[in-house]
Amino acid sequence: MSDPDKPRSHGRLAISASIKPRELMTATPRIKGAWCAKIVTLFPDAFPGTLGLSLTGKALQEGLWALETIDFRPFGIGKHRNVDDNPAGGGAGMVLRADVVAAALDEAAIGTPKDRARWPVIYLSPRGKPFDQATARRLSAADGITLLCGRFEGVDQRVLDHYVVEEVSLGDFVLTGGEIAAQAMIDATVRLLPGVLGNAASTEEESHSHGLLEHPQYTRPAVWEGREIPPVLMSGHHGEIAKWRRAEAEKLTRERRPDLWNTYAKHNSGR
Ligand code: SAH
Repeated sequence: MSDPDKPRSHGRLAISASIKPRELMTATPRIKGAWCAKIVTLFPDAFPGTLGLSLTGKALQEGLWALETIDFRPFGIGKHRNVDDNPAGGGAGMVLRADVVAAALDEAAIGTPKDRARWPVIYLSPRGKPFDQATARRLSAADGITLLCGRFEGVDQRVLDHYVVEEVSLGDFVLTGGEIAAQAMIDATVRLLPGVLGNAASTEEESHSHGLLEHPQYTRPAVWEGREIPPVLMSGHHGEIAKWRRAEAEKLTRERRPDLWNTYAKHNSGR
């Protein structure tokens, strides 16, 4: 097995995990009861990744939320710490073993409530329920979450059944692993936690918060490449601005997302 501390050489590319962002996960204060994401993964070095940047990174550093990774590898079988095996029934690829995944999930469960409403346990999976803003809101209202990142052909079904694991998908496409999906879901969730975004109002006005896509945004310069900012936005008339924004949001949603528009129109028919 390769030395995990040694940068691996892939041809001309030397890949080494940067020390700094990972230190964020251990060397920062944690506010008692702060929302926590536990990630079960074969690639803990992928975290915090982009979550260590900007507003989510600052909030992580301040202990407004916490991140823990649980590596599958130490729970692997035998000298080589094997975590996967051939699919039963044949076919391409490898499957993560139930016993190995279970041991890692047990480790992740330490100190977390058993109630899945308070602490959802989620397998990132293209077969899952598509992730959306309502799911992000539900996860942000929990005490924390455990995210199981698959690799190869995925994980043995029995462990998903046994641990009552919810499957959630990032979208109708296939990734090579759950790590990017986990980061996307954590990002969407963490920005809803109190104090993470400077301006709390911005999560109330943005796309998907009321079932509509957001209106277009503009800033200086007032004229760019001969294109003006819509005059109503420069009028200082708050009522007119709000009306314009609502109309633009409705128009965009109708044009781009008939699915969202139908739901919105149904709920707002009595307006
Ligand atoms: N054989 C599986 C795909 C495995 S892809 C199938 O056909 O359903 C390998 C891993 O990447 C999965 O175990 C899952 O954790 C992750 N993954 C792939 N696509 C994903 C998606 N759309 N959303 C969330 N996770 C995904």
